[in-house]
Amino acid sequence: MIHPIKTYPDGVLRRVAKEVSDITDEIRRLARDMAETMCAARGVGLAANQIGQPIRVVTIETGSEKESVPLVILNPVIVALEGEDALEEGCLSIPGFYETIKRAKEAVVKGVTIDGKEFTVECSGLLARAIQHELDHLNGILFVDHLSPVKKQLFKREYAKEKK
Ligand code: ZN
Repeated sequence: MIHPIKTYPDGVLRRVAKEVSDITDEIRRLARDMAETMCAARGVGLAANQIGQPIRVVTIETGSEKESVPLVILNPVIVALEGEDALEEGCLSIPGFYETIKRAKEAVVKGVTIDGKEFTVECSGLLARAIQHELDHLNGILFVDHLSPVKKQLFKREYAKEKK
């Protein structure tokens, strides 16, 4: 089922998501719905907060041939970050707004698949960026929080204006 995506400044985007303790039917359904919703919105990643469920589930699909992470990751944790890269970023919850954001170039991520298997993967490029972005969502952080104070002010002003 495709869900409406919560947009800024919805409060659920600021909630710190809860760990998944059991892979229940509800969690499986949530993961399936998230994959469908992400796909329909043509996003490269989605966190459960974005469909109103503050639970530590993310879906990632960068369309890269070297895709090395599962589509659904439960309880993701970043084990290591390396390097730095500044690229333009956007978010399904902040439609129409893009800004250059500095993030680590490479990431080592640990998590659990929907089948309950633990895994650790190293990733880089768009995938590493998407994972850092989605993990932020689980901690109630949005990509605009990484902007400089001046750009943050501009965002708030411009975005609030557009919404009227
Ligand atoms: Zn986002």
